[in-house]
Amino acid sequence: MRVIESPAEYRQFCESSRLAGRRVGFVPTMGALHAGHLALIQRAREHADCVLVSIFVNPTQFGQNEDLSRYPRELAADVQKCESAGAAAVFAPTTAAMYLPEEQTRVSTGRLATHLCGAKRPGHFTGVCTVVNKFFCLTGPCCAVFGKKDYQQFKIIERMVADLFLPIELIAHPTVREVDGLALSSRNRLLSAEQRRAALGLPQALDAARVQFNSGVRSASVLEETAATCLRKSGVRIDYACVVDADTLAPCSEPVIGGDRALLALAAFAGETRLIDNTVLGEAAEISGR
Ligand code: AMP
Repeated sequence: MRVIESPAEYRQFCESSRLAGRRVGFVPTMGALHAGHLALIQRAREHADCVLVSIFVNPTQFGQNEDLSRYPRELAADVQKCESAGAAAVFAPTTAAMYLPEEQTRVSTGRLATHLCGAKRPGHFTGVCTVVNKFFCLTGPCCAVFGKKDYQQFKIIERMVADLFLPIELIAHPTVREVDGLALSSRNRLLSAEQRRAALGLPQALDAARVQFNSGVRSASVLEETAATCLRKSGVRIDYACVVDADTLAPCSEPVIGGDRALLALAAFAGETRLIDNTVLGEAAEISGR
């Protein structure tokens, strides 16, 4: 399997694959790959003959006080994992290659990016959309697979693809979890044993709110408080615990959630490590890897 660093060479590789009549699928990642990423690659293989995986820790999506320098990097192991998952090539560019010295262009985001992580991490989704758009331009994929663990990210990219008329089918894959419910994340490997235990508060909070929702509770603030109580008990520091409209991501009107479904989205710190998780209340819980 090829590991390509140069954008020009990568573009050439993708172009040749398309000319050979292959359907190109794409999975963007920041590396430190786990079974969640591999599930995305496998999913892409169901839709494409040739799956490309990018591994790039994108600096423009990190804020100044965030964990860019701490973010785990393990390219050699990642390449092996991509190979066993059946990827055709890995694209692992340098930052200098992705952001030209004279660069000045960004993809700007709109309302969807003003809520949840967008509110807590100003500029984050601009960085995400910019780099994903660069990757889309270099790859020219028929389809691209993203995880629902980053629900807001998926919604924003879906919007970008529609707004910019990008000819790419987007596929959202369910969150892959550890047996105890913790969503797989590259950041989990930064957790101490105690922080790992505390992190279980996130899936527990989702489960508790889901039970309450299924028993008929429709007040966003009651559901948020249930989730927040779980998080506090487990010892993580809450960044947000919000019940929002699953399509617009705007806060639900009180006292009652309008429709039959709503997104419960969580972000919390275990020590210095920020974790996110979510579930769509009112939809069957997706069990993946549990
Ligand atoms: P990242 O490397 O964290 O930027 O993630 C790359 C892609 O993998 C994104 O589309 C994520 O949503 C997805 N992803 C990360 N963790 C999981 C997970 N536990 N289950 C499914 N997809 C995931």
